Amino acid sequence: MTLSEKPMGPIPPGYVAHHGELVIAGVGARDLVASAGGTPLFVYDAGRIAGRVAALRAAMPSELGIHYAVKANPFAPLLAFMAGHVDGFDIASGGELALLTSVGISGARIGFAGPGKRDGEMVEAVKAGVTLHLESPRELDRAIEVGARLGIAPRLAIRVNPDFELAGAGMRMGGGARPFGIDADQVPDLVRRIVASGAEWRGFHVYAGSQSLDSEAIAAAQAATIDCVARLADAAGVAVPVCNLGGGFGIPYFHGQHPLDIDRIGAELAERLASLPASLAQTRFVLELGRWLVGEAGVYLTEILDRKISRGETFLVVDGGLHHQLAASGNFGSIIRRNYPCAVATRFAAPAEEVAHVVGCLCTPLDRLGDALALPHAEPGDLVALFCAGAYGASASPSEFLGHGPARQVLVGHEDEIPGLGA
Ligand SMILES: *Cc1c(COP(=O)(O)O)cnc(C)c1O
Repeated sequence: MTLSEKPMGPIPPGYVAHHGELVIAGVGARDLVASAGGTPLFVYDAGRIAGRVAALRAAMPSELGIHYAVKANPFAPLLAFMAGHVDGFDIASGGELALLTSVGISGARIGFAGPGKRDGEMVEAVKAGVTLHLESPRELDRAIEVGARLGIAPRLAIRVNPDFELAGAGMRMGGGARPFGIDADQVPDLVRRIVASGAEWRGFHVYAGSQSLDSEAIAAAQAATIDCVARLADAAGVAVPVCNLGGGFGIPYFHGQHPLDIDRIGAELAERLASLPASLAQTRFVLELGRWLVGEAGVYLTEILDRKISRGETFLVVDGGLHHQLAASGNFGSIIRRNYPCAVATRFAAPAEEVAHVVGCLCTPLDRLGDALALPHAEPGDLVALFCAGAYGASASPSEFLGHGPARQVLVGHEDEIPGLGA
């Protein structure tokens, strides 16, 4: 009885073999592991990230600002690299602020959203000149109080919970009853209070959802956001310095998924921005993206420790697992487990010869990184590559679980630009 193959997601384009081995940023997988000191290892290709930012800028209207959502990947060398490529950063904690500060990124480029900001976090943010994206009326009171205590006019924006959601999004974060943002009908009053308080009014932020592969749905959400923000500005009687349109740009992880059509999104947005109502004529629009910018630039490399057969099925046991790549195991917000793109990095050019499960080293049945994959025959010592590991990997996985410890991380392919950081 042979196990039948289950499909995997598409390996992002451009990953090639050299002497049979997967190459990332011009370096072979074994050399990357050797210079990083071992596996498991996340490799982030800075050149790919720069390429994504450039592609996005080319597709979007030229006046649009691009922000990076730190949540997707907060690896410090990657943040430092990003500083030279994006216009701003969006954070959701004081810890992320400290990381950005540690690599020299100025608070003036940072927006801080997220429900449940602590006093200490607000103080640090206001001191640093960060824009607070208010998530509730109480946060407005507290921000005004913090500003008064510090003698600094706080920079304040309102995160709006709009009256629509992003159709087809993997995670919905706007529309309906949400912990995020302030319901649109409460917003005009709060804007007037911000202005009256003497704080610096920075504008609106609308985030409708994450991981959408539907360019039409994203374009529609952006159009609805612009309409919503125009109505709120009119109702409050203010101009809007900045409008953060959110993001939600997904990447294909699974079989049958296709890359987003960013040209289409850009063309529709350009049309909208060319015919803005008077209340938004001076507004600077920005997008905030995490996953789309960095997800495909990351590869998780893990070494095969054992190869075993159980009741006719082959298991490749690797030294990594869900403690580093929770999402690939299907345990990070997915309803059914599907296979991320995966390959034997040390036999990248070889044809598939067998069907095998790739399982992590954790003592739990949840730790399955690849289910019934068609792979070349691999042995202990071979390296397995899990693709799409650049976002929500290392920092979104329970690395303390079972005591194996965190993975190594390295940013490669950027030496010319930032000497001394990363690789
Ligand atoms: C998570 C999040 C992002 C980034 O989402 P991606 O899917 O990684 O692009 C951006 N903005 C806010 C407010 C978020 O919560």
